[in-house]
Order: sequence, then structure tokens, then C-alpha cells
Amino acid sequence: MNKQMERETLASLHTLPALPYAQDALEPVISRRTVEFHYGKHHRAYVDTLNKLVPGTPFAHESLDNIVRRMARTPGHNAIFSNAGQAWNHAFYWKSLRPAGAARPSAVFLGRLEADFGSLEAFKLGLAAAATVQFGSGWAWLVLAGGKLKVVHTSNADTPLTHGQRPLLAIDVWEHAYYLDYQNRRQDHVRAVIERLLNWEFAEANLERAA
Ligand code: FE
Repeated sequence: MNKQMERETLASLHTLPALPYAQDALEPVISRRTVEFHYGKHHRAYVDTLNKLVPGTPFAHESLDNIVRRMARTPGHNAIFSNAGQAWNHAFYWKSLRPAGAARPSAVFLGRLEADFGSLEAFKLGLAAAATVQFGSGWAWLVLAGGKLKVVHTSNADTPLTHGQRPLLAIDVWEHAYYLDYQNRRQDHVRAVIERLLNWEFAEANLERAA
């Protein structure tokens, strides 16, 4: 393979995954305009930047999952890890949401939430609190950690994968996730997402895979 072909192969290593629904499917909680920018500009930029950064590094032939898992134990490479983390987190985030409407966890998943949080309501309050307490940019998560469901938050591009936790659901609390629709009202955005957009089936499938 010549140098030019090699560069092109590497450049297409990481791809922007398709959005799992139409860009207006999350309205009225998240507008089409927010999704256009968030998915079409921000998420795409993380993937494109990662593809520019990895050639010639130890990560040139690594999958996105592998790069992200190495984040916590490999010094340096901050730009690669930030863009890889954000690429991974956003792909997971879009799947954590579903088109707006009433939805409840299955009886089995509800049982897990009740066992580990006390009630569905307590879980929702805990997730909203994690999303609100995260200072500046970051993420709120439902994870499986030590055999229990837990709510955690991470800063910037950090992800539960690097802390030995299995992500089940994610909420993006970077301003770009809500600013066009909610300005500075992160709490209102987060509450609406939790009430109307969480993809319980995705969370349950992630839990089954992790078990
Ligand atoms: Fe984002």
C-alpha cells in the first residue's frame, strides 16, 4: 500500500455512526436545530479530528473502544483521548435517547432500578442531580458498577469505561446539548430528557450484555 492509500485508509478508520432516528424525532424536548448542530457539527468534528490525529501514533490501528479504554492508563495523547472519548460518548448518547413520548422501563428493569435506588422516582432524581451537579461540561450516566446500578457523572470527554464501569445510559450536559433550546436552564433540559426521551430498552440491553 502506498503512503497516500495508507493515509486514506486510516482517515476512514473512525466513522460518524448514523443517527438512530430523524433529526426532528426528539422534538419538542430537543429541537431539530439542536440535533443538526450537535450531531452534524459537534459529533462529526470529534470523529473527523480523531481521524486526523491518530495516523503515526500507537492508536493508528486501534478501534474506538480500545482507544477509550486506554485513556486512563496511558499518559499524554490528550487530544486523541478527548476526541475519542467524545466520539464514543456521543455515539452512546444518541442511542440512550428515543423519540419523545411516554415510555416506562420493563418490569424486569424496573425491578433492578427499585432494588438499587429504592424507586423509579429516586433513580430519576439521582440522575437529574448528577447532571446538574456536574460543574461545566460533562456527562451524567447510569452505569453498572460492582454488580449494582449507580448514577455517576464525568467531566469533559471522560467516560465510565475508563473507570471499570459499564455504561447503561448517558445524558450529555455540555452546553451544546441544550443551549439553543434552553439557554442556561440545564436542569429543565435534563428533567425533560429524563421524563420523555430515555431509551429504556437500550439500557436494559446494555445491562444484559454486561451481566
Ligand atoms: Fe455533546
